[in-house]
Amino acid sequence: MRVGIMGGTFDPIHTGHLIAAERARVEAGLDEIWLMPANVPPHKTNKPRATSHERWEMVCLAAEGNPFFRGIDIEIHKGGVSYSIDTIELLQRQYPEHEFAYIIGADMVEYLPQWHRIDDIVRLIHFIGLARPGYSLELNALPEAIRTRVQLVPMPMVEISSTAIRKYRAEQASVRYLVPDKVLHYMEVNRLYES
Ligand code: ATP
Ligand code: MG
Repeated sequence: MRVGIMGGTFDPIHTGHLIAAERARVEAGLDEIWLMPANVPPHKTNKPRATSHERWEMVCLAAEGNPFFRGIDIEIHKGGVSYSIDTIELLQRQYPEHEFAYIIGADMVEYLPQWHRIDDIVRLIHFIGLARPGYSLELNALPEAIRTRVQLVPMPMVEISSTAIRKYRAEQASVRYLVPDKVLHYMEVNRLYES
């Protein structure tokens, strides 16, 4: 089975994530998409606004209704800082019969050389890269060992970010359609990102 892992802070998960995951699934012929919230993302200076539990619940709600999608809580369950190398090693030990790919947006493609132990990561897994407004998918800028492990797949530009959603929420502005309805409802009930 071929599994696409989409990691993220998902603070909150939004339609951009879901479109990217679905494009990757179809274009790269993946059997399943596992949406995986990070516990503590190593590359972010601000800690997530919502708790790990809240981000996990929103991921599960967003995955509902797509039979190819599911949430995976491996990083949240492990706790601490979520380094991809640890996760990949764990996944490959736990599911030796699966072939994994990491699904990432263009901002993360640009940032790949800075990933903790990227030289080890690219030996274990390949990446599926998708366009994102404001970032380049110019693979030539990447070292060869990384570049050759990134497959680009077409993606309509979607200018949605969790940062923008948190900002809208703080301004009491609507985020309807930027997130799935169930995620919107969850944010309202739990009064997330209201200030
Ligand atoms: P924040 O603004 O808080 O950083 P974000 O919208 O960037 O949130 P993340 O959880 O940081 O969301 O991103 C998880 C993954 O999803 C990353 O690989 C990122 O590149 C990708 N991604 C997020 N939004 C988009 C988008 N609109 N188009 C393509 N890829 C995206
Ligand atoms: Mg981000």
